[in-house]
Amino acid sequence: MVTYQYRCAGCGDVDVRRPMGAATSRLACPRCGDDARRVYTSPRTRLVPRGLVAALDAAGTSAENPRVVTREPAPQAPRHAHPLHARLPRP
Ligand SMILES: [Zn+2]
Repeated sequence: MVTYQYRCAGCGDVDVRRPMGAATSRLACPRCGDDARRVYTSPRTRLVPRGLVAALDAAGTSAENPRVVTREPAPQAPRHAHPLHARLPRP
């Protein structure tokens, strides 16, 4: 379901939930029954967390233009969850 916005002359902006693609350019205002015109607004992408947007952008970029690796990455020192784990005896 998608929320579509309509503007009624008497009631102002009214939100109507319909299946995607089922919105009409006009409808009867659900409050007063007068003619209401659809208002085209931007998607509510501002509600999406920035980290998620960055991850989706990175995934899209990787799918279209993946980074090419020319050599193996340099070995890194093992990371330990707790500093004291590094002091545990090793086999
Ligand atoms: Zn109305």
